[in-house]
Amino acid sequence: MAIKTVGYAASDIGKHRSSNQDSGYCGYQLFFVADGMGGHAGGDIASAIASQRIALADAKSETVEEAIESLKRAILEANQMLSATVVDHPELEGMGTTFSGMLRHGNQMIIAHIGDSRIYLARDGEVKQITNDHTFVQKLVDMGRITPAEALVHPRRSVLMRVLGDVSADPEIDIAIYDAMPGDRWMLCSDGLSGVVPDGVMNRILTSKVPTEEAAELLVGEALEFGAPDNVTVVITDVVRSAVQTEIEPAALFVGSAANEVVIEERKGSKILRLFSPRSLLDLLQTPEDPTQYAPESEELLNKILSETRRKIRFKSARIIASWLLLASALTGIGYIAYEYTQTRYYVSSFEGNVTIYQGIRESLGPFKFSKPYFVSEIEVGTLSVFQQDLIERSISAESLEDAERILDQLREAQNE
Ligand code: CA
Repeated sequence: MAIKTVGYAASDIGKHRSSNQDSGYCGYQLFFVADGMGGHAGGDIASAIASQRIALADAKSETVEEAIESLKRAILEANQMLSATVVDHPELEGMGTTFSGMLRHGNQMIIAHIGDSRIYLARDGEVKQITNDHTFVQKLVDMGRITPAEALVHPRRSVLMRVLGDVSADPEIDIAIYDAMPGDRWMLCSDGLSGVVPDGVMNRILTSKVPTEEAAELLVGEALEFGAPDNVTVVITDVVRSAVQTEIEPAALFVGSAANEVVIEERKGSKILRLFSPRSLLDLLQTPEDPTQYAPESEELLNKILSETRRKIRFKSARIIASWLLLASALTGIGYIAYEYTQTRYYVSSFEGNVTIYQGIRESLGPFKFSKPYFVSEIEVGTLSVFQQDLIERSISAESLEDAERILDQLREAQNE
């Protein structure tokens, strides 16, 4: 049965990032997303370079073997281009990108994947994730050491074990082949979607009959609804019978960072690499905000991540138990003793702009507060260093009243220096 595809790509910078480091491509036979990483301008340059090189593989091949070869070759060449770019521009060291794409060959879809972007297939009302994240937390999930729910909120969930970039000349790329059936809806996305929009919401849109373009825009819209902490990119490819007339026969479409041209300028003998789009200097000077990073596979890091998971769970449950104990004891009259105990504790924070010793504990339980200003000092928070101000705002725990007084003395000394 002759088939064809109807695709659409959408990308949004999200609500907390200053640049879009994702790229998406929706072409004729080829569809992909690439999520760049690296500080400053590195991430968007990486995903744009890789995208523009790999998009050259958007062509028909004679055989499926040839199609696989051409896709693989394009990916490895993109990887080489990233390394070469870093050689010329050492300030871009550490830049890299994920790549999750598919090349249609007749009635088959060739999947190529590296990193933590994802590909999903909605078929017969069911949605399946068909790629595996190349992350440390996913590895721990596969080993049964942590649960998928823990992985989803793990602080190191963005540490990747495999990427395209300047780390390996021969990165390992997952390749798979699927049959393409009329009615299939494929979705490729960056983790700004999969890590943010709950599966249920995503699946409802993917299994619905809304048109391709609308589905992609709806998904990006959901990511924004859920706060969009990261760039979000979605490519949807619907497989339809070739005889079906579709309204849109779109041309190849780049979205995100790859929608800009990468230009290498020669300026006073030193090459300057920049994206051919106006960027403010401020934007380039910003500290990296993307936690995504590459780390070579190691037992050590796996164990570290595992122990962090355990610590987080223990810490959380200890705090929950403590809060409930306090509430329960408050209700049974033992509360007085608990409250008395809290009043033997001290910490230093600010009160109406002055450094202040508080008696009690910072934690509060609904309307109940367990601390009060004990001594408001003459030290104005505004006269301290930014670092000290930050400490004071977050509050400094003291072992005792004497200890709290010592902290005040140290602040006074620092002021006089
Ligand atoms: Ca991302």
